[in-house]
Amino acid sequence: ALTTGIVGLPNVGKSTLFNAITQAGAESANYPFCTIDPNVGIVEVPDHRLDKLTEMVEPHKTVPTAFEFTDIAGIVEGASKGEGLGNKFLSHIRQVDAISHVVRCFQDDNITHVSGSVDPIRDIQVINLELILADLETVEKRIGRVEKMARQKDKEAMAEFEVLDKLRTAFEEEMPARSVELTKEQMKIAKGLHLLTMKPVLYVANVSEDELLDVSGNEYVQKVREFAAGEGSEVIVVCAKIESEIAELDGEEREEFLNELGIEESGLDQLIKAAYKLLGLETYFTAGKQEVRAWTIHSGTKAPQAAGVIHTDFERGFIRAEVVAYDDLIAAGSMSAAKDNGKVRLEGKEYIVQDGDIIHFRFNV
Ligand code: GDP
Repeated sequence: ALTTGIVGLPNVGKSTLFNAITQAGAESANYPFCTIDPNVGIVEVPDHRLDKLTEMVEPHKTVPTAFEFTDIAGIVEGASKGEGLGNKFLSHIRQVDAISHVVRCFQDDNITHVSGSVDPIRDIQVINLELILADLETVEKRIGRVEKMARQKDKEAMAEFEVLDKLRTAFEEEMPARSVELTKEQMKIAKGLHLLTMKPVLYVANVSEDELLDVSGNEYVQKVREFAAGEGSEVIVVCAKIESEIAELDGEEREEFLNELGIEESGLDQLIKAAYKLLGLETYFTAGKQEVRAWTIHSGTKAPQAAGVIHTDFERGFIRAEVVAYDDLIAAGSMSAAKDNGKVRLEGKEYIVQDGDIIHFRFNV
């Protein structure tokens, strides 16, 4: 399963946030594909479309889709030199598909900062630099292998060398691989290197309770936003402490608490949605009287493979998909009305499933 790793320096609020994630906790029985591991938290993806479909179909059961956050502890300066926990830290990052980087943007004199003061950009750079140095090593090793062949005009080696050289230059300027402009072909080569700084990142600015509603006065957040914009990354503002309180409530209590705080959507929900998007994930739905359910696919997935997410038999025996777009179904008011309006299409093997599609698969067993 795809997972996004939570990283950050000590004392920035990682554990508090991760606890909120596990507390909000999805029933893992519903999600057999998810990992059972104390460092993995399964989150359900909030989706108002699922609520609407539930109202319309009135099923016995509604199941949101879910994915994973992995708590990656133990970053220390010098990780790239393979000191102590450092190596382990890097190998954990290698296994995740995207990174949520928590940075401390709250002042609290009772909570020491590892570097003595609050400075989110310096913090970001401490971690990024370790990842960049590890990638530099990867690239230099590879250069050692292909440089000679590139000099002998081996076409493939020349193409790879060009990419490696671009990456090396970026790393020497302390820029991550994701900031390097590459052609489609070059990107393929770069992907093969499994670089840490190629993984998409979002920054999670952890602010104090009293600033959550209005962060305009928080210059730390401002700086993180500027920094993130510079590398094309997104920023989510949360207050980890409040999130851990929200996570303990359920249903109505939760709504009330959010209303009291004057918050429309919890920071955690925003984070979940942003991480889902960052992973390149999309949602389609199945809707029947028994169950209305959301399913996760990579964007660009074709109908048979999308069916395979439900069951491998669905993929193997795939015949056709009956598909209606979410907006069309809502506008029609019911599945039978959508059919009458000609909004339900029959699609074949080559159909690329779109985010929000409601699908009924036909298959041979
Ligand atoms: P970690 O080392 O990054 O996992 O950080 P923790 O989650 O353990 O948090 C370190 C300390 O900061 C704990 O005492 C938390 O209660 C506190 N903390 C975390 N988030 C917030 C916050 O949003 N506001 C305030 N005031 N304290 C926080």
